[in-house]
Amino acid sequence: EGVILQVRDLKISFTTAKGDFPAVRGISFDIGRNSIVGLVGESGCGKSVTALAIMRLLPSNAQLSGTIDFSGRNIVAMHEEEIRKLRGSEISMIFQEPLTSLNPLWKVGRQIDENLKMHTKMSGGERFRSVVDIMRDVGLPDPERLYHKYPHELSGGMRQRIAIAIAIACRPSLIIADEPTTALDVTIQAQILQLLKDINREKGSSIIFISHNFGIIREICTSVCVMYAGHLVEVAPTEKLFCGPEHPYTIGLMKAIPKIDSKGRELYDIPGKVPSITDALTGCPFEPRCEYAFERCKRELPQFKALGDQHESRCFLAGELR
Ligand code: SF4
Ligand code: MG
Repeated sequence: EGVILQVRDLKISFTTAKGDFPAVRGISFDIGRNSIVGLVGESGCGKSVTALAIMRLLPSNAQLSGTIDFSGRNIVAMHEEEIRKLRGSEISMIFQEPLTSLNPLWKVGRQIDENLKMHTKMSGGERFRSVVDIMRDVGLPDPERLYHKYPHELSGGMRQRIAIAIAIACRPSLIIADEPTTALDVTIQAQILQLLKDINREKGSSIIFISHNFGIIREICTSVCVMYAGHLVEVAPTEKLFCGPEHPYTIGLMKAIPKIDSKGRELYDIPGKVPSITDALTGCPFEPRCEYAFERCKRELPQFKALGDQHESRCFLAGELR
């Protein structure tokens, strides 16, 4: 048990020629050891930016404040060299589209090997055996042969397994998976989710699982953080959240059944749009889209209200909605 990552009052803004724009507006949450925590919300709510902040992979015009405490070390204040040692070994990330994270010019085996080379003292022979084992662990067939393939020679599902193999090679205590199955078809999606669950159970890595899909979140996560417009708006253990969501945004996301548009993208039903980071916000950021909104919501930002059993909602009506 215990907490592996503790985020406190994290704020992230981007400095541009037109001014400073906040993408994350002061969020706090804990990632427990061995847990799988979902970070849910529509795109543009700050999920990926939060993930990149934990990895310290944000562009140089990003300003951070607050703390990200990882096993007693504050990632926000770390020197570049220190974060480089951590990244890929103690914390690693899996992206939506493995083609963007894999090097197209390198054989896939070498890409897993490179991570071991950077972070361990293993010999070449030990690393080769280890890479083959890891490839087998993530369900890749005939790893000795596959080792020598290039990313474009593999299917999308196999490429994502390679990306996962790279991510787990050094046995990280935390894995951040940002929409890792969105680009895959449903069958492969289910296999990758199962693989992540197995990694969590067998290797003990905690996982931050980013998604806009509540169906997937329910299947894989132990607890959920719902994000809207740079704020956390609801936090709860998964079962608690699905039995009784307390924030109108969460309720909307759950009601909205993902639909597929002509380009194969999923669309949601909640009327209106996520505010842009250039929009000035006053009051509750969800107010323009909220069917429960009343006068006060326009003027005042609600604070988190504790509802018991680690359930919190950032709405004036928390606990009174249903
Ligand atoms: Fe809706 Fe008001 Fe609650 Fe915001 S505070 S979610 S506008 S009811
Ligand atoms: Mg994103």
